[in-house]
Amino acid sequence: KQDAPISVQELKKGILSGNRARLAKGITLIESNAAHHFDYAQELLHSLLPHTGRSIRIGISGVPGAGKSTFIETFGTYLCDKGHKVAVLAVDPSSSINGGSILGDKTRMEELARNPFAFIRPSPSEGTLGGVHRKTRETMLLCEAAGFDVILIETVGVGQSEAIVRSMVDFFMLLVLTGAGDELQGMKKGIMELVDGIVVNKADGDNIPLAIRTKSEYSRILHFLQPATKGWGGKAYTCSAITGKGIPELWDVLEDFSDTTKKSGVFQERRRMQAKEWLYSLMDHQLKMMFYKNEAVKELLPILENEVMSGNKTVTAAVKQAFQAFMDTLK
Ligand code: GDP
Repeated sequence: KQDAPISVQELKKGILSGNRARLAKGITLIESNAAHHFDYAQELLHSLLPHTGRSIRIGISGVPGAGKSTFIETFGTYLCDKGHKVAVLAVDPSSSINGGSILGDKTRMEELARNPFAFIRPSPSEGTLGGVHRKTRETMLLCEAAGFDVILIETVGVGQSEAIVRSMVDFFMLLVLTGAGDELQGMKKGIMELVDGIVVNKADGDNIPLAIRTKSEYSRILHFLQPATKGWGGKAYTCSAITGKGIPELWDVLEDFSDTTKKSGVFQERRRMQAKEWLYSLMDHQLKMMFYKNEAVKELLPILENEVMSGNKTVTAAVKQAFQAFMDTLK
């Protein structure tokens, strides 16, 4: 039966043996908003913690149409053929904004989805980006425990989602279209500072000369920026997700990145710092939830809003009053 209770031990054993149904079950528990699932999921996660971390975590971002899903399909299939186990996760900011989805289209990556060495999980849908953050991070750990040694986390460049994915991964890759000049105009300045590599996709057919030119433009820009990863000078590359050209070379780059940063200790240090950042970001999230879900605060906020908007109260006084009401309920 689908809902038959299964012990944490049993679920743990299943996940460690790479059982996909058990992995999916574990993720469902992590993603659940039901209070009675929380302790169970956390106990599971805790017991799996010693088996996590042995993967390379790669973030992949790019505007819609850059070719992310085609790229992940080709890249993921290539890696599975090489003997890797590839998990694909997503952080979809749109689900937290309008309940819709930019990434969630089910027809994407059909071939990879059928590959026995790949595991694809769409973005968790929850009201806040903070919630999506936690769930994706914990899902990544479950996938590692299940033996997935390459984790691909996809996102679209909207709002904070890129910074969130950056905070979860070892290598952050930006997929771009040819024609850097135009595209750079619209690109948020900050993102270039997050990337370890820029991949000019669709370098095929008549597009090849332009792709090569675009690549040098991006390389030149990256060269002048502070590297996102200490000791790793980010570069630009070309590839075609359709023909597969450039894909093996990209994997070589990632292996080089992993070797270089592990030797220097930067890899390990980043993961330590990411764990610390995550502690605080989860704390922030929790604090916010506690505050905004508090009954006294919920009652008071519309009144304060009105007073502030009509100019009858200063914002500082309103904030103080809201916190006072909140603190009083904790007594
Ligand atoms: P996403 O929105 O970033 O996930 O982009 P998609 O993977 O859906 O690709 C958008 C369009 O670009 C699709 O029509 C793809 O077939 C096409 N495309 C993706 N990669 C390549 C490529 O390497 N070469 C060419 N010529 N087209 C590509």
